[in-house]
Amino acid sequence: MPMYANDYGNTAMLYNPGQNISNDNNGGVKGNNSSKANISYTIAAYLRLSDQDDAKDESNSITNQRAMVRNYIASQSEFSHAEIVEYIDDGISGTHTKRNGYQQLMDDIERGRVHCIIVKDLSRIGRNLLDVDDLLMNHLVVHDIRFIALGERHDSLKHPMSNLELAFINLSNQHYARDLAQKSMSSRVIKMKRGEYLSCWALFGYKKSETQRNKIIIDEECADYVRLMFSLAAEGKRPPKIAAILNAQGIPTPADYKKQNGVEGSWSHFRIDPDYSFWCGTKVWRHLKDIRYTGTAVNKSTKVKKSGQKACLKRSEDEWVKLPKAHEAIITQAEFDKAHEALRRNKWSDPDIGHIFYNKIKCAVCRRTLTRTNPKRPYFKCKTKYYTDHYDCPECIITQESLEMLVLESIKVHAAVMIDHEKLKLAAIQQSALSKVELERKISSERKAVQLLEESITKNITALISEKITQETFLKKKEIIAGTIAEKTAVIEKLCEQLKIVTEGKDAIEEKLAGLNPLVDIEKLDRELVDLLVEKVLVHGEKSIEIIWVGTSAAVERRFAKWV
Ligand SMILES: [Zn+2]
Repeated sequence: MPMYANDYGNTAMLYNPGQNISNDNNGGVKGNNSSKANISYTIAAYLRLSDQDDAKDESNSITNQRAMVRNYIASQSEFSHAEIVEYIDDGISGTHTKRNGYQQLMDDIERGRVHCIIVKDLSRIGRNLLDVDDLLMNHLVVHDIRFIALGERHDSLKHPMSNLELAFINLSNQHYARDLAQKSMSSRVIKMKRGEYLSCWALFGYKKSETQRNKIIIDEECADYVRLMFSLAAEGKRPPKIAAILNAQGIPTPADYKKQNGVEGSWSHFRIDPDYSFWCGTKVWRHLKDIRYTGTAVNKSTKVKKSGQKACLKRSEDEWVKLPKAHEAIITQAEFDKAHEALRRNKWSDPDIGHIFYNKIKCAVCRRTLTRTNPKRPYFKCKTKYYTDHYDCPECIITQESLEMLVLESIKVHAAVMIDHEKLKLAAIQQSALSKVELERKISSERKAVQLLEESITKNITALISEKITQETFLKKKEIIAGTIAEKTAVIEKLCEQLKIVTEGKDAIEEKLAGLNPLVDIEKLDRELVDLLVEKVLVHGEKSIEIIWVGTSAAVERRFAKWV
């Protein structure tokens, strides 16, 4: 019977990268079996489950991979005295090699601790052609390690596979990884169309089903709070009044309700006092206009502002993916309509979002957006005091007119400072050692050199296939060429970085200056300009405001606090 370095009964990750699995000097691996003196042959079982592998596809599960490798080892008498060490990467893509289990395996290969590697199939090692090729053709050959891929019936000792054959298998694996990413995107859209609930959090009034995935069910306790909001609205009460009633009755806000139920989230970081929340008109209105309470699923109502960022923009309603009767309704369509009719009669409508300071003017004390009233001569006021005395907010009102004046003056001053700053950067770049032309010439000649080197590999492969050179000569040549390519690639990368600073850097600064210069003489604010420059305006008092500029550390920190 083979000996196992770990307890196979345990399905948890057996290999832990932080754990010292090998500390004797003979390169053997310590097992929990005491007869380690006899161990002379170590098999590495490499198991990998990608985050994109379908969770329902049992055939790729770690348990299944382990069972396949174990059965194979047990069936081979030559392995009866071998020790087995598992290297596991669970939920990690094979398109790169930054995997803990994989890296530990590579380290152990370097240290001579591994004699044979067994995988369920080649794609477990990786889905990137170059990485797999590098492992199979360089590492394992150099260290004289046997490699067994059960799926491909490949055993490097018994039937050495030709380079070409391996290249084909690798190529199709790489292809598969790309294909899978596409599939994963479209499966999300399919789920949306089926009305599955894909948000992380259940909507207030619902909870996530424990038996069905992507399904929400009514949470009776908070569903009553939702029903109360709608019935108060139907009675003719406006959202601020409804909020005051909810506060007076001690009804928890969605954030508090989640907290009471032991769900910790990032929402509370946004508040000045993370432990305190209250209902306000805006919050109530957000619930009252949510058609999901009638059982309709809504997806794709927001989109990511910029690829890779978390901030979202609202999509227009005709872009939403809606599906009626997707989940149980808390409010009937008739109740929903009745509440909205009453609100309309009460002249309640969505707040004006068309003004230049939309969502920018915040109370310095409670951090809520100030309410804007009186469209003819608009002014801003913090309404928090109407709901709670938890915060000591300034009682002042500030007119839009005076805000515009203050912001405009500050923009002019700010622009002048920034112009000086950019001019200094420009001067520094102009003193840079190499010119753009020189850099471009260097990059082009290095690229040509790499191209020639790559062509020479192809020539050597052809020579190997037609048996003009031996495998040994091929590998030696390939190693030298690959080394040179790597060096040259690193040089090219550095040169490109320099070029980017010299060209784009200069262009970017000049573009910035072109944008900044007119600001000094600007006469009137517009929405575009405010959005571009002003992150927020904090109102401390009638004559005391604080402008947080876009991109300043305070703004970045605030965003960070909100999302982390
Ligand atoms: Zn306030």
